[in-house]
Amino acid sequence: MLKGTGASGGIGIGYVKVVRDQKPVYERRRVRNTDEELKRLHNAVKSFVETTEQLAEKVEAEAGKKEAGILRGHIMILKDPVLAYEIEKLINGGECAEAAVEQICNMFISVFASKDDDLTQQRAADMEDLKSRLIKHLLGMDEVRLSPLLPDTVICARELTPSMTAGLDRKNVAGFITEKGGETSHCAILARALDIPAVLGTEGIVNRVCDGQRIILDGETGEIIIQPDKSTEEKFRRIQEDYYNRRELLRHYLGKPTTDADGNRFSVLCNIGNDSDVNKAIDSDGEGVGLFRTEFLYLDRKTEPDEQEQFEVYRSAALKMSGKPVVIRTFDIGGDKEVPYLEMDSEANPFLGIRAIRYCCIHPEMLRSQLRAILRASAFGDLRILIPMVSDIPELIFVKNMIGEIKTELREKDIAFNEDIKVGVMIETPSACLTADILAKESDFFSIGTNDLIQYTMAADRGNSQMGYLYSVFKPSVLRAIRHTISCAKAEGIPVEMCGEAAADPLLTPLLISYGLDSFSVSPTSVLTIRKEISRYTKQRSDEIAAAVEGMTDAEEIKKYLRSQIMENAE
Ligand code: PEP
Ligand code: MG
Repeated sequence: MLKGTGASGGIGIGYVKVVRDQKPVYERRRVRNTDEELKRLHNAVKSFVETTEQLAEKVEAEAGKKEAGILRGHIMILKDPVLAYEIEKLINGGECAEAAVEQICNMFISVFASKDDDLTQQRAADMEDLKSRLIKHLLGMDEVRLSPLLPDTVICARELTPSMTAGLDRKNVAGFITEKGGETSHCAILARALDIPAVLGTEGIVNRVCDGQRIILDGETGEIIIQPDKSTEEKFRRIQEDYYNRRELLRHYLGKPTTDADGNRFSVLCNIGNDSDVNKAIDSDGEGVGLFRTEFLYLDRKTEPDEQEQFEVYRSAALKMSGKPVVIRTFDIGGDKEVPYLEMDSEANPFLGIRAIRYCCIHPEMLRSQLRAILRASAFGDLRILIPMVSDIPELIFVKNMIGEIKTELREKDIAFNEDIKVGVMIETPSACLTADILAKESDFFSIGTNDLIQYTMAADRGNSQMGYLYSVFKPSVLRAIRHTISCAKAEGIPVEMCGEAAADPLLTPLLISYGLDSFSVSPTSVLTIRKEISRYTKQRSDEIAAAVEGMTDAEEIKKYLRSQIMENAE
């Protein structure tokens, strides 16, 4: 079995078609009649613009305006006067049109490709596509056409450029598999918009398959099975059917407010780990970002991100979410998240040592730079600050004082920020839970981090599978910790969300409704599932279920009972 990145959900079952994009080959020559050569260039640009506009219209009809915008972006790049000027300058100096296009495009590509962010990298890929297509127009070569295709075609390619994907014979495509591209590439965006299962970033696929072979791809898990046997194919047919049934039922909840069966409002937010995940939060209909795990900005690199870099990420998230809440958790490094350039001393018990807010209290400068970035970006949307791993009141006061100092500095420098930015505390240690009444007086909101709250309440390592029998949200102590936290928040009148994985567990939903949770923050793929679950319970029914659970002492018994209630409620 091969594996790539699942980039567009669903199961594709069909026959391989390997697509090889032929590189345009031309002979570089010196030209004397430069006017004639400029005319060739202008004709090629004209035919490029015409075909691209036709493709864009097709995409707009099938996938939408935003997706067509990718191709229209190519036209805009080509119409950029700087690009045209540079290409024409080379032609006027005696270069042939093909070589002039290649050299100038390559210049832009190397500038874009040297940048780290996904968006600029994507511009390099766009420029590469544009270069190759424009040279083909100059040479009168055919562009790759994925039309017409035989029914149930699974396209396998090194890369699918936006122009190739756009001209696609959609009805006959069962899936895409490519070697290049990730979840945020244009190919992935188009695949999702056209609703075609896709697995990208699959090394070596083109040389592993040949035309006509039977193949299966799972656009959620990234699995690929070449020449499956009968029983494997049957198994995937069942998964396929289940996927479409589930999705169809859930679509009903798209764009709907989150309410329980009595009409009481809740919200379902998304957990994200980087800027491009914001798009997933939007696509999945999340009502905001409930947890932005910012430590991912600090990992996998050689130096710390500076204030400006962070500011740009947070501002972009704020702008994309256009006024919806975005809860930015200050970095939670330490524990299992090591950052090599910080040269942290190794500890005997890293999960009980210098982690998250504890690191910040010892090394305040890194936190100061992050808080400044968040405060500056708060002028662009509803950003909120969340502090992880709080176990003592002074830790919260320390951060609040620092925020106060930064606000004074920003005011003095006339830099815009949100004066009323909310500061919340993650409840993920027993100490924070037991002092939740005191913390609630100093916080604007709580967010319950069950992943750690379970670990620390049960003294059971969250990463050790042998601790599975103890590590469960359904343990009476953990349920009490959750209920107690919510009731302290309610007593103080502050909102409370849950951002640990347990928020996405449908078995827990009625208990959380009964306890009074306001927001569920889950991975984008779980938004509609949880919205649907919430809609199934009245407050009274949730209270009855919670009361029954109250009398139980064993997690397995609780789970069994909750499972039976889900079934009963579904009938
Ligand atoms: C949690 O502990 O529940 C949480 C959301 O934080 P993380 O999983 O990042 O530790
Ligand atoms: Mg945690």
